Amino acid sequence: MRDVELYAQILGIQSPWFVGNVVLQTETGRVDIWLEHEPRAVWRCPECGRELTCRDHAEERVWRHLDTCQFKTFIHARIPRVECKDHGVRQVSVPWAEPGSRFTLLMERMIIDVISECSTIEGARKLMRISWDQTWGVMERAVKRGRARKEARMISYLGVDEKAFRKGHSYMTVVCDLMRGTVEYVAEERKKTSLEGFFKGLNEGQLNAIKAVTMDMWPAYFLAAMKCVPDAGSKIVFDRFHIMQHVGEAVDKVRRQEHRALMADEDDTLKGSKYLWLYSLENLPEKHQVRFEELKEANLKTAKAWAMKESLRGLWKYLSQGWARRFLKKWCTWATRSGLGPMKKVAKMLLDHADNIVTFCQHRITNAVAEGLNSKIMSIKRRACGYRNKEHFKTAIYFFCGGLNLYPALSKTGATH
Ligand SMILES: [Zn+2]
Repeated sequence: MRDVELYAQILGIQSPWFVGNVVLQTETGRVDIWLEHEPRAVWRCPECGRELTCRDHAEERVWRHLDTCQFKTFIHARIPRVECKDHGVRQVSVPWAEPGSRFTLLMERMIIDVISECSTIEGARKLMRISWDQTWGVMERAVKRGRARKEARMISYLGVDEKAFRKGHSYMTVVCDLMRGTVEYVAEERKKTSLEGFFKGLNEGQLNAIKAVTMDMWPAYFLAAMKCVPDAGSKIVFDRFHIMQHVGEAVDKVRRQEHRALMADEDDTLKGSKYLWLYSLENLPEKHQVRFEELKEANLKTAKAWAMKESLRGLWKYLSQGWARRFLKKWCTWATRSGLGPMKKVAKMLLDHADNIVTFCQHRITNAVAEGLNSKIMSIKRRACGYRNKEHFKTAIYFFCGGLNLYPALSKTGATH
């Protein structure tokens, strides 16, 4: 019976529980451990904590534990049931596992760590020698647990962004805490209600604590924030990177139009130049510099549009909203008079949104953190390719990016060692 004592020690089992029997199967690499309890032990009603004696036992259950000496390890026990006069017949809680889980607490913690390290369900499941569904179950419980524990924290700076789920098919809305770099909320679609759902989950103190929200110039998000956040008009900041992206796209449209016109005259000056115009000047790789200099000198419409884009970057240097607004107006006049259709269009868009572009001067926030998180989210999706639906995808985002406390709590008399 020496292995009984050994396993009692390894599992950290304490009174009233003890190891009754151990069966080691060396051929299959498996060890089964039966736990029993002292017959006169006192149990508590899981609802109210009233002390009661054992009424009877539930069917034997099995929990997978951490491997011991590379043996797959299984714990067996029949859980006592008590009869509480207020809550009826209930199973008591056991110190080694959460109700309903088929893993011990330590195993569940280990699986959570391994998923975090592997970043994929498939990798974690292979290492832990468990099934995909079991691994998924651990992940889902971990997120549920973490979200339930989450306290109402004040978040000063928020970033809202949309993310395509399955290219072009549908979108998801992601809200993050720009200071902590965590995803706070994920919703389906990119509608007004998608973002409202987040704000509705905040209490008044949290809503008042919001100092600024950065987002793309997407009407649905703007309207949701205007509706829910006190004094939102001065707190919404249209994201600088999104704005520059819109302007970059306008430059590219100018290039495409001009290239087509030139090619009609058998002039291939702009051939293969697409990416050169997307760089900002200081980021242009050295090998392209000579060609780019020539292009800039060549009196092209594209070069003119590109110069506008470069000049607009000066906007974010202003510290005063008034000066920023003057700069933006001047820029828009320049773009409007340029005769370049796409630049004219983007200028109109910026003018229409000027109020919440210049708020940057005060808050100085961008969605850069959110963008970083988004690329993390995308890579989660790519690696996993098994998230069968949006609900799964959402769970994975919270698991990897939510900054949650995912672990099951270890009970004081629990299976620790
Ligand atoms: Zn009770």
